[in-house]
Amino acid sequence: MSNAIIRGTYAHPRAFWETGARLDDYGVNAVFIHGGSLDEATVARARAEGCKVFAEFATLNGRYGDYVEQHPDAHPIDDSGNPAPPATWFMGVCPTHRGFRDFRMDALRELLGRFELDGVWMDYVHWHAQFEDPYPVFIKTCFNDSCVTAFQQWANVEVAGATAAERAQWIFRHAPKAWEDWRVSVIVDWAREFRSVVKAAQPNALVGCFHCAWKDEDLGGVRRRCLGLDIRALTPCVDVFSPMPYHGRSGKAPEYVREYVEYFSERYPVQTAPDAYPRLWPIVQAHDDPYVSPEEFEQVLRYGLSGKSTGVMMFTIGSVAADPGKMAAMRRVYREGTG
Ligand SMILES: [Zn+2]
Repeated sequence: MSNAIIRGTYAHPRAFWETGARLDDYGVNAVFIHGGSLDEATVARARAEGCKVFAEFATLNGRYGDYVEQHPDAHPIDDSGNPAPPATWFMGVCPTHRGFRDFRMDALRELLGRFELDGVWMDYVHWHAQFEDPYPVFIKTCFNDSCVTAFQQWANVEVAGATAAERAQWIFRHAPKAWEDWRVSVIVDWAREFRSVVKAAQPNALVGCFHCAWKDEDLGGVRRRCLGLDIRALTPCVDVFSPMPYHGRSGKAPEYVREYVEYFSERYPVQTAPDAYPRLWPIVQAHDDPYVSPEEFEQVLRYGLSGKSTGVMMFTIGSVAADPGKMAAMRRVYREGTG
């Protein structure tokens, strides 16, 4: 792994290539593409244009393969004892469902068997919730037998109650902190297995993680308390953190990207020395939802490289390809310092 600054793009570069452009001409040296969209021709062309190839991998996404729909016992159960409603466009899954876990790990092995990759990025590494919308959705899950049994063993407690709703009430009353810590441990355990599968197949491939760009203290600590996402706890399992500070989506100014990247750089043990990990490569918003001007896009791309960040990418390369102004902005930022 060389230690050049990562000047990345996210999503399949098809639309970019259709403009007649080459990745190396735009200073791009890494592509991040959903594993399901990868094929030999894409990998070969990206490499021929000087890029590393990273695959994004949907981890705890219950919509993947219609899994939750086809396996109702994997549907996360809320504190009323009912299947949790979808969190807008996202549907999570019961993270202690063994069948689902095997299903994802098998898919990961299959992906690693098909392509030589520079790394795999975990996506949706959290409990059922929605943080990518202007109006986030938080739901306390999961209270099915599988999760309550696992929690009892982990915390060495006996949860009272005849129904899922009664057990949920008992947990909130008697062991809320232990329950939150256990939920973190479940997510970390997924990441640990994910990493071991990646390293067993391709020891040099990096393990990355796309994640919610909220600070520890935001909204009463809800990132850890509801998503079960504890950055420090994940550090042994993750080579590169890729927070998603989508300023437009979350109603913030472009400067928020710099603020968050600097915060992350100071708060966590981010490394910048050659071959030292974990590293920080944020993904910033290019997508017009709401409209992001080329000037604003250029700003957030630069802010994505502030602090101790050693890389950046944007959501998505298709949104850049659709706007000549954004194409020019990306080329300007990415060609600086490339010689
Ligand atoms: Zn469960």
